[in-house]
Amino acid sequence: MIVCSLCSAKLKMLDKIGGMKLGDGGRLCVYCTATIQSISPKIKFEEQTESSIQELIAQNKIEQVLLQNAKDNATQELVARIEEEQIKNKRAEEIAIQIEALQIENQFFGKKEIKELPNILSVSENVDNLITGIYNSNFGILVSTNHRLIFVDKGFIYGLKVEDFPLDKITSIEYETGFVSGEVTIHTSSNIAKIRQVDKVSARKFAEFVREKLSKPKENPSIISAQPDILGQIEKLAKLKDAGILSEEEFVEQKKKMLEKL
Ligand SMILES: [Zn+2]
Repeated sequence: MIVCSLCSAKLKMLDKIGGMKLGDGGRLCVYCTATIQSISPKIKFEEQTESSIQELIAQNKIEQVLLQNAKDNATQELVARIEEEQIKNKRAEEIAIQIEALQIENQFFGKKEIKELPNILSVSENVDNLITGIYNSNFGILVSTNHRLIFVDKGFIYGLKVEDFPLDKITSIEYETGFVSGEVTIHTSSNIAKIRQVDKVSARKFAEFVREKLSKPKENPSIISAQPDILGQIEKLAKLKDAGILSEEEFVEQKKKMLEKL
């Protein structure tokens, strides 16, 4: 059983993540870590021992109340930070499971890009397909999610490069396979993007998958919910006209504008 060098509390999981190690091998619980940090924000724990830490506490004539407040704040911050980290880890795990389910060959490539996905994708985004290839002479991954296709390249020198193609902007997707490798071409209204050096089988599967997805009628809740709202607004306009607030001319003009939004 490991206990805190300062308060002798038994160390729990949280203490092992958020508590600090001392130079003499001693350990601090999160509360004592937070207390020490509030007294001495720049302290180097690895240079401290159990007795130097106790001395630091004894020397400090900070009022207990102030100390308690500082401790609570620091602890809250620490707990929030740990929670945030845990949420991020959980998201990374979710994405990893989604990618594993795709059973992609050549798992070796694109690892550092996959690692970036939790930072790039929104919480409601699920990975449903993935290929590796070269786009604009950058090696990376092309990911298909329920919202978009997204090319991610994590370079050593240039850092992270991301380009996304929202599904509603994609007009078509094609693939070609050569002797050695294949390529996938994404057409949008303003752009043609070629992903080269894609594994032949994966290029075909990916393009067919996305094509199938594009051919399905899109769920578009924004339009469905917008319609009654616009009709409601026209009704309101009619009432304003009836009340004499809008002229017939103004009413017709506003109504026309509203109908154009449908
Ligand atoms: Zn403690």
